[in-house]
Amino acid sequence: SPLILWFRKDLRLDDHIALIKAARSGRPVIPVFILADEGSPYAPLGAAQRWWLNHSLEALARSLEQKGSRLVLRRGAPETVLAALAAETGANVVAVTDLPDPAGRKEDERIAGVLEERGVALHGFGGLLLHDPEKLRTGSGGGFRVYTPFWRALNQQAAPAPPRPAPDAWTHPARWPESEPLTSFDLLPRKPDWAREFGSHWTPGEKGALDRLHRFTEGALKGYAVNRDRPGIDGTSGMSPHLAMGEVSPRRIWAAVEERREGERNGPDGEDIERYQKELVWREFSYHLLHHFPELATRNWTPAFDSFSWVDDPAGLEAWKRGLTGYPIVDAGMRQLWRHGWMHNRVRMIVASFLIKDLLIDWRVGEKWFRDTLVDADPGSNAASWQWVAGSGADASPFFRIFNPILQGEKFDPDGTYVRTFVPELSRLPTKLIHRPFEASLVELRAAGISLGSTYPRPVVDHRFARDRALAALAELKAEK
Ligand code: FAD
Repeated sequence: SPLILWFRKDLRLDDHIALIKAARSGRPVIPVFILADEGSPYAPLGAAQRWWLNHSLEALARSLEQKGSRLVLRRGAPETVLAALAAETGANVVAVTDLPDPAGRKEDERIAGVLEERGVALHGFGGLLLHDPEKLRTGSGGGFRVYTPFWRALNQQAAPAPPRPAPDAWTHPARWPESEPLTSFDLLPRKPDWAREFGSHWTPGEKGALDRLHRFTEGALKGYAVNRDRPGIDGTSGMSPHLAMGEVSPRRIWAAVEERREGERNGPDGEDIERYQKELVWREFSYHLLHHFPELATRNWTPAFDSFSWVDDPAGLEAWKRGLTGYPIVDAGMRQLWRHGWMHNRVRMIVASFLIKDLLIDWRVGEKWFRDTLVDADPGSNAASWQWVAGSGADASPFFRIFNPILQGEKFDPDGTYVRTFVPELSRLPTKLIHRPFEASLVELRAAGISLGSTYPRPVVDHRFARDRALAALAELKAEK
């Protein structure tokens, strides 16, 4: 009887263990994608990711067709759809790649129970993480809460298994079940089409992922250790949205950078490679944290933060979302997010610190906005990173470390390239003023064609005042303890 291959956040054929097993079984394979309701662990996390999913499904369908197969699209509650599909085709096995988050695992267990009652077995396989969170534990058997020992422990394990290519061929069913058209999923924004620029920046799908990976390992990997912190340079891999949808496996990425270790003399050095692998392991670490603390996106890891006096500031929040805070590096980041559905890591830290510490807005508000607007929205990394910046997380930056948005801008975007790209109304300011337009004289502003308060906003809050206010709120929290 046929076998259903249920795709979720593993939209690729390369290094796909469930597909390899399915092909080996010799049974006819029916690939299916089910659009579950919003909020389901199988659904994209937000609007930007829905855009990505639309194009990724097109790409997956094309890759399957090249192998003589198809992608069957259905909508609805997965257990109902799968049971109906099994009854229709006579399939008694559903193969999946296990989701790495606890909500996904729990839902899979529930669905496995429902299917079992109908004589259908759900078989799960790995592939979305380098290591199983159940197997990588501290000496005393608990989960890791601190990154450095986690990295050390991970390195003491055997190197990740090598990635495996897609099978050349497998068996197809004689009759294909009906598929709904992709347009019925209604995944793309209409009016306004805020995603219109995404397509010139990203190529969703497995081929887009592998091409980008190749460009990175041949290009920006050399110098990554230094350039990764410079938002004005295209110095990072851009693998995050591809990883979020499972279009490339972390093992494939790991192997691709390892391969460059023994490369030509002019290639990346050991430090570039190790630095990159360390970042990839931050993703891993975030998932392991989520595994041990499933409420990572909604509850403070450090309960002392539960009584923090957050401020309700709708005007400040709106200015932050729109990139109109009056702090150029913050505004550039928030506008990059609008335009590309992605933001450079350094700037994510700066804008998150600004929301939490300068505006005193609860980190969960920022986490939610990112979840909706990032093409790489990820249940582990997003939640863990927001808690990290807030100081409420497991291995967190202390709350009193408050980023100064002016100095951060000057340090990491020293020539103002990044600001000039995303905040064009400031582009004619001289470099010495690009991160502090509010200190420019009227003459300087006029020469740059800027009218503060009209063509570009004045700061929504004074950073020095905000810093003192944040430290006072922290002191209050400490006094309460
Ligand atoms: P590269 O520098 O090329 O890194 C390679 C890979 O390593 C990334 O694709 C990613 O998988 C992983 N990685 C790198 N940095 C981190 C990090 N700090 N934490 C976890 N994994 C990391 N990343 C997401 O994938 N999804 C999110 O929703 C997300 N939200 C974030 C929210 C905040 C407030 C902050 C500060 C960071 C967040 N990050 C998130 C982490 C990081 O910013 C992105 O992974 C990175 O910018 C992606 O770009 P890249 O692929 O070019 O990174």
